[in-house]
Amino acid sequence: MIFTEHITGMEIVRLVAETKAKISKFKAEGKTIGFVPTMGALHQGHLSLTEASVKNNDITIVSIFVNPTQFNNPNDLTSYPRTLEDDLEKLSIYNPDLIFIPEVNEIYPEPDTRIFDFGLLDSVMEGKNRPGHFNGVAQVVSRLFDIVTPNDAYFGQKDFQQVSVIKQMVKDLKLNVNIVPCPIVREKDGLAMSSRNVLLSKEQRKNASKISETLFKACNLAGELNVTQLKNWVVEEINKNSYLSVEYFEIVDDTTLEQVKDWNESNNKVGCITVQVGKVRLIDNVTF
Ligand code: AMP
Repeated sequence: MIFTEHITGMEIVRLVAETKAKISKFKAEGKTIGFVPTMGALHQGHLSLTEASVKNNDITIVSIFVNPTQFNNPNDLTSYPRTLEDDLEKLSIYNPDLIFIPEVNEIYPEPDTRIFDFGLLDSVMEGKNRPGHFNGVAQVVSRLFDIVTPNDAYFGQKDFQQVSVIKQMVKDLKLNVNIVPCPIVREKDGLAMSSRNVLLSKEQRKNASKISETLFKACNLAGELNVTQLKNWVVEEINKNSYLSVEYFEIVDDTTLEQVKDWNESNNKVGCITVQVGKVRLIDNVTF
């Protein structure tokens, strides 16, 4: 279906071969390529990555692909919001050069059986709670990098652990791609923007702001409480709200993702949280 091309002047490509051919042409002209991989249902978080890419590269390519191999929960995959027409309209503000919207069989003509080993990076937090998730992320991102061959690839710090895994993957596969982490974009009340936020009921949405509110307060309390006390405080504070249930809250070193037990142990500490809001799982993090 090519019903959306008329909305904007952006070029929409659905086939791998066509995308590769266009990129070869850009490269032959000496142009730098910025790449923003997304799963669609775009919001200002995604657009901030697009804006950064457009600013810093000759050519920007945005992909929209809901990658089945990174969903460990089939219901999550089926209920994942899909809003293509809206997405294209939002992207047109930044006018990226190519929008790559492949079907599943374009990305995976055969099942991807590769198993990646990221050690601790994918065995804690999201890796522990969503088995296979980061393996699926590595499969799709490596495949997309192979097609797009970007100079720069833009990822949001909202998915903090994902950035660590992708950086490691780039190292392991010896890829020549510069990973550019971008700051978390938040709603007015502090809630980290997420495609899944639209799945929240009005009441759930209102109460979800308690997550970031508590993380910000935790930053101020870090001088007064030790690490264990602070972790317990965050979990108790959020769980007091009947709409919210904390899956985990960890304070980790931002490079190794090892748990920090004492404030002096690591220079760069990040508090990562996952909260279940009804059936919706929301993640967020804050730097201490
Ligand atoms: P997704 O469509 O959820 O796979 O996200 C695509 C990219 O957008 C990932 O690099 C995310 O980390 C990034 N992203 C999602 N939400 C935000 C946000 N609130 N702020 C910044 N980046 C984000």
